[in-house]
Amino acid sequence: MAICHIFEYFSFFTILFLYKIFYECKNSRYWSVKMILGKCPYCDDGIIEVRDKEVGAKKVKLYACTNAQWKTEDGEMFELTDDSSCDFKIWQNSLARYGKWLSYKEIRELLKDESIEVELLSKKYGKKVYYNKFITLNQEYGVSVLWD
Ligand SMILES: [Zn+2]
Repeated sequence: MAICHIFEYFSFFTILFLYKIFYECKNSRYWSVKMILGKCPYCDDGIIEVRDKEVGAKKVKLYACTNAQWKTEDGEMFELTDDSSCDFKIWQNSLARYGKWLSYKEIRELLKDESIEVELLSKKYGKKVYYNKFITLNQEYGVSVLWD
């Protein structure tokens, strides 16, 4: 009988223990840490992180400085919060009109090298034409294409 009780206690604590581990993992900061892409080029201590946004029911990533928060972020971003000390951001689709969506890798390289070469797409005259251009960091627009 006594042995049975020991097993009962054992399994009770095992379950409690596993539940505790599960609960702590679920609530751990680890899961809420955002993807970091590099140092912000326009402020001293900002880091560029990945934020998930929805613009017009479409999912799009926003690469933004940790020192930049906006009061409204539903598509248009209007006003910075009072405690924001930076306003740098790059929309993943900011070059979408040139057929280009910016990947994490490209943003990392941009933050490191300030400009990178990318492949853009032109659909003029119903034809798809790919061409290479350099893009660079732009404080106001996030990125801009260097048109020579
Ligand atoms: Zn910044």
